[in-house]
Amino acid sequence: MLSISNISLLASILIATTLAYVQREVISPQVLLTWYSFMVLASILRASQIISYQRHPSDEAVVIHTRLVRFRLVILISSLVWGAAGWLLFPENNPQHQVFLILMLAGMTAGGVISFSADLISALVFSVSIITPITIRLFVSGDRLLVILGMAVMLYLVFMIMSLRLINRNISDNITLRLEAIKHKELVRASEEHHRLLLNYSPVGIFHYNTDLIITYCNNHLADILQSTTKHIIELDMKLLNDQTLLPILRKAFDIQVVHHEGPFSSSLCNADLWLDLTCTASRDGSGNVTGGIGIVQDFTERKNSEARINSLAFYDPLTNLPNRRLLMNRLQQALASSSRIGRKGALLLIDLDNFKTLNDTLGHQVGDLLLQQVALRLTTCVREDDTISRLGGDEFVVILENLSQHALEAAAYTEIVGEKILAAINQPCQLVTNKHHYSCSIGAVLFNSNSQTTNELLKQADIAMYQAKKSGRNTLRFFDPEMQASITARAALEAELHKAIDKQQFQLHYQIQVDSTHRPLGAEALIRWAHPERGIISPAQFIPLAEETGLILHIGLWVLETACAQLKTWQQNPLTRDLILSVNISAKQLRQADFVAQVQAVVQYYAINPTLLKLELTESMLLENIEDTIVTMTTLTKIGIQFSMDDFGTGYSSLQYLKRLPLNQLKIDQSFVRDIATDNNDKVIVRTIIVMAQSLGISVIAEGVETEENRQFLLDNGCAHYQGYLFGRPLPIELFEASL
Ligand code: C2E
Ligand code: MG
Ligand code: MG
Repeated sequence: MLSISNISLLASILIATTLAYVQREVISPQVLLTWYSFMVLASILRASQIISYQRHPSDEAVVIHTRLVRFRLVILISSLVWGAAGWLLFPENNPQHQVFLILMLAGMTAGGVISFSADLISALVFSVSIITPITIRLFVSGDRLLVILGMAVMLYLVFMIMSLRLINRNISDNITLRLEAIKHKELVRASEEHHRLLLNYSPVGIFHYNTDLIITYCNNHLADILQSTTKHIIELDMKLLNDQTLLPILRKAFDIQVVHHEGPFSSSLCNADLWLDLTCTASRDGSGNVTGGIGIVQDFTERKNSEARINSLAFYDPLTNLPNRRLLMNRLQQALASSSRIGRKGALLLIDLDNFKTLNDTLGHQVGDLLLQQVALRLTTCVREDDTISRLGGDEFVVILENLSQHALEAAAYTEIVGEKILAAINQPCQLVTNKHHYSCSIGAVLFNSNSQTTNELLKQADIAMYQAKKSGRNTLRFFDPEMQASITARAALEAELHKAIDKQQFQLHYQIQVDSTHRPLGAEALIRWAHPERGIISPAQFIPLAEETGLILHIGLWVLETACAQLKTWQQNPLTRDLILSVNISAKQLRQADFVAQVQAVVQYYAINPTLLKLELTESMLLENIEDTIVTMTTLTKIGIQFSMDDFGTGYSSLQYLKRLPLNQLKIDQSFVRDIATDNNDKVIVRTIIVMAQSLGISVIAEGVETEENRQFLLDNGCAHYQGYLFGRPLPIELFEASL
């Protein structure tokens, strides 16, 4: 009301001025001036109220209330001034001016009713205060026409009041409706904002689609999951997607309440392979008709990838990507169960690379890794897709063949074919960094067909078979069979007895003489014997290999060294034996001990013997395995005077390259060449070559296993003047040996 009051105030001042001007002809100037002054005062009051409102509009209920009360007061004042006009400005006998006044007041009343209709009290106060004085004035005039006019004015007032009530109700309703509409709009806006925030910040992708499978809405998170934008996704026709796996699920949501699906999805929007979890439900209109569907999408790609990574780390060998030992054991267990169920045999092949350690030591671990990767690749070409290949660790691989024949022989034949294929594949030259290398492997195979065999047993058996393959020259395949098992049981028994033999000192040394071309004794080879309490004398060939495998050789070897040195010490007392050189066999394990040099030095010092009288016999194969360390060990011992002889020469794989670098004093031609030297032309050539080789390397040469005069003559003719063999003497206990001298 205050906001529109300036117009009505202006109108009221104009009308008041016009009225005063027109009535000046019939009303005394003093009355007119007094009335007009009051009118001006009332107008000033109203104006001050309007200005105060315009300067400080306020929504506070208290302020609004006081303003309303003041407004009504000011309205009362100004309406009383107007009402006074009906009495004071009414000319007695001038009907024209009387009507003019009545019209002015009626107009004011109509204007006030409209202007103040929003407040019933203000409007009532205004209209009643204006009309009442003029009506009374008309009634008291005594003129019949004026009384009737008074009655008409009263009627007018009643009509005005009735209209006022109607207008007021309309306006209040209007205002209430408007306020409610504003409130509702605010609520809707807040709710929309709420939902917008919920949808956009929810950690899942959300979309709506219509019955044509066209997306009508999607939130930001869905755009993030698909690595696209909401603009691209909205209006997308899902029927045109490359990956159609989700379409049946989206359609199913129209019929069933909630559909759930989890699986791979390849998105053409971002060219990525995702793993999505999708929950769909139908959306319906007010009458329950399906209008489309709502989809909730969760992206589990990361989780799935992590799972795959963890799985791979737990079950696969990172170098070759082949199943590791854990997964192998699992698969082997399954293979055993399935083999016993369907009655078909399976086979387990244990593949071990030959000389892998040498490759690793000479070319480095990186090259070793490369070889292992190539081997893994080659193995996959040798077996069927269902067969398992795994890396057991180090240079050991395992292949499981399943679903073979029911007959052991046929199954073994097939296994052999696969084994040969593997051998051939590994034998292919292999490009490692810059050079091509040739490699081989040894394979142990075992057949299985029942649940009663345990996985560990099978692996052990394959390992034994593989060991046999190594023993029989490598690059070959061997089967594990019961006979082998028998010999293994015997071995176990022997091992137990060996332990006892060490405790009970059942070992002895025998001495075999070594002579020159004039039969003059040069020295002897100390050869160990086991004086078994029940079985009598046992040859070293029967227990040294086992002692080497079990590590017992370290004890035994040290005992031999000490006994030999003690013997050398004794020999110093006798001119007949004083210059004899004693050869002692050293096994690979002994030589490779970190403190081997110290051990030899300690023994030599303890017995105070001349170190040049001690000769250590090494074999070729043991030298090759760790050539650099061996050279260091040998050189250190050579410096204190110890001699070295290469035993069983010709049976190993020594290259001249290596021989040249070793500080050797002697080559010992292996007895296998000497034995048939008279008849076998090959052996003749080999022996001649070895002698020439020794001569060119500037080291002495001795032949072992010389049994006949014929042999000796051939050797002598070809430049070998040192011999050891039954022709000159068998290995003998010390007393007999010394007597033979
Ligand atoms: P080896 O070092 O090559 O020893 C020579 C072997 O040939 C000895 O067998 C010896 O008795 C045998 N032998 C010598 N002359 C003849 C011959 O004219 N004809 C035939 N047929 N054989 C002959 P033994 O004593 O049975 O030793 C076998 C192998 O055991 C040795 O071969 C050696 O490698 C190993 N061995 C012996 N004693 C020790 C030892 O104390 N320590 C280690 N680590 N190995 C030993
Ligand atoms: Mg020997
Ligand atoms: Mg020998």
